[in-house]
Amino acid sequence: MKTVLSKMTTVWKASEPVSYSLKNETEVFHLNPLIGQQLSIQSSGKILCLACGKKTSKSFQQGYCFPCSRKLASCDMCSVRPETCHFAKGTCREPEWGQANCFIPHTLYLANSSGLKVGITRTRQRLTRWIDQGAIAAIPVINLDSRLAIGELESHFKQHFADKTNWRNMLKGGVEAIDLDEKRKTAIALLPDGIGIPLTDARVDILYPVLEYPKKIVSLNFEKTPRIEGTLLGIKGQYLIFDTGVINIRSFSGCEVELVHIC
Ligand SMILES: [Zn+2]
Repeated sequence: MKTVLSKMTTVWKASEPVSYSLKNETEVFHLNPLIGQQLSIQSSGKILCLACGKKTSKSFQQGYCFPCSRKLASCDMCSVRPETCHFAKGTCREPEWGQANCFIPHTLYLANSSGLKVGITRTRQRLTRWIDQGAIAAIPVINLDSRLAIGELESHFKQHFADKTNWRNMLKGGVEAIDLDEKRKTAIALLPDGIGIPLTDARVDILYPVLEYPKKIVSLNFEKTPRIEGTLLGIKGQYLIFDTGVINIRSFSGCEVELVHIC
């Protein structure tokens, strides 16, 4: 299948490994059935902007051309640092997009990706977010109704919890279980008075389709290896794990590739 790469689509069901796929306009390429088999991904060398579709020599902000990366609100710094939201100043790059994406319920959560971490996400896509970071379990703490509010709360939590995933450790597997219900109690005790009612939603456990975790992490990329191939050993987060190395599909968003199931 030929496609322009973007994030893998994921489907979660309780007690089953996450189901991963890639797609183009007409086809869906299911990746789980290929685990244990030979797969090749050949890059054409072309990068096509995910927003405008134009060819770009370099990808900015995971798949955009330079002009789009300067124009889209989703590519603004406030997207990664929501506590710096500048909508109220009237300087949002795309106020309508901001209204639809930043002034909606957001969740502060605790996850176990390479260890305990705090994070935030739009409530409607929290499961997707947890899978994308390779968390083996996650639990929501509280919902607030804007990205700015949740961003400010997360800044406060960063003094008490890590907020980054060590992706190498995440990919090596063997992440130890954490009692997230207990950790949520700690988190709730840290909530500022009157901020809202904490959530009681159950912890979500996430299983990944992985036959074998790599002992040593070799990071593959299309600049050095235009044709990435090998036995697909598993998928975790947005990474494909081959016997030849790992590739973060998300960071190659916009790359035109051809996926071939060899045998
Ligand atoms: Zn563009």
